[in-house]
Amino acid sequence: MSKTTDQVRPKESAPTPATAFATRAYAASRPTSALAPISIQRRVPGPRDVQMDILYCGVCHSDLHQVRNEWQGALPTVYPCVPGHEIVGRVVRVGRGVKGFKEGEIAAVGCMVDSCRTCAECREGLEQYCEAGATYTYNSPDKHLSGVTYGGYSESIVVDEAFVLRVSDKLELAGVAPLLCAGITTYSPLRHWKVGKGQRVGVVGLGGLGHMAVKFARALEAEVVVFTSSASKTADALRLGAHEVVPSRDDAAMQRHFASFDFILDTVSAEHDLNATLALLKRDGTMTLLGAPEKPAALAAFSLRIKRRRLAGSGIGGIRETQEMLDFCAEHGITADIELIRMQQIDAAYARMLQGDVKYRFVIDMTSLK
Ligand SMILES: [Zn+2]
Ligand SMILES: [Zn+2]
Repeated sequence: MSKTTDQVRPKESAPTPATAFATRAYAASRPTSALAPISIQRRVPGPRDVQMDILYCGVCHSDLHQVRNEWQGALPTVYPCVPGHEIVGRVVRVGRGVKGFKEGEIAAVGCMVDSCRTCAECREGLEQYCEAGATYTYNSPDKHLSGVTYGGYSESIVVDEAFVLRVSDKLELAGVAPLLCAGITTYSPLRHWKVGKGQRVGVVGLGGLGHMAVKFARALEAEVVVFTSSASKTADALRLGAHEVVPSRDDAAMQRHFASFDFILDTVSAEHDLNATLALLKRDGTMTLLGAPEKPAALAAFSLRIKRRRLAGSGIGGIRETQEMLDFCAEHGITADIELIRMQQIDAAYARMLQGDVKYRFVIDMTSLK
């Protein structure tokens, strides 16, 4: 996910600490350390809280950025850091005021566990853009216990039901976990810019985000073209639903697609040339950035002025839309392509993720923590 640069600050002062219980987790204790077992505290569920035993947790690139304190300017990491915001689990206890969830049901938690709920953004269901800063699932000030929130690399989590999602039992649960970040991050812009039948959609990059974008754009009945710098991904892109794959380093192939796209999702986090992909947009077409390259990109004004093109960005999605996305996935049988790992393999998984060596998301089997 791409987090905003807004400082996260809770709107109210923290309430009296509730009673808590201990739960096992995996944490980094400093930027250079391997993840290791730790005992953390979760609050005893209040009237509106849902307590879940975590079954699966996806491994997002944000987890690694946060563990290594690579966003120290915007979101400095507080240690110990328990990452994980692609969480699927079983409800084991609910507060007496909880209406939407029952013990024994499967539920999910994504990138946020709270927000101010009163600002204009929150009232529109766009909690990810909360003016006070959403409470992220990990490394945000915890409004209930002191310290910061702890994420899904743990055996249990307690979350207000307003931030808990329903999951269909028709879907394969390990593949559902990445929908909570990679899924909503790609689904939200496709819906916001009303991608659908008769439109040509370009997906730049075929990683965790890109592979979900292909599945969603195809299910939305668009014509889907993948742009990738690695020829080895061609067969896979077609299998995932792309109609065509274009090698992005082949100038002649790129030229053939000049000014032919209604919408482009750029999922690449490495430095790359935005002007080359903007040239693929039709008049009034939009390209939306989802990646987070370290350095600012060079942008030629003419890339936009020619054909009145637009360059935009998008960050995760609100709770209402995340539920809509999960329901859409149940209807269309969509899950992420994953590699299941044990908790103890996380550091090796991070190393492979840095090499782009994963198809297309690692998911931790959280029962391995026991
Ligand atoms: Zn993420
Ligand atoms: Zn708000």
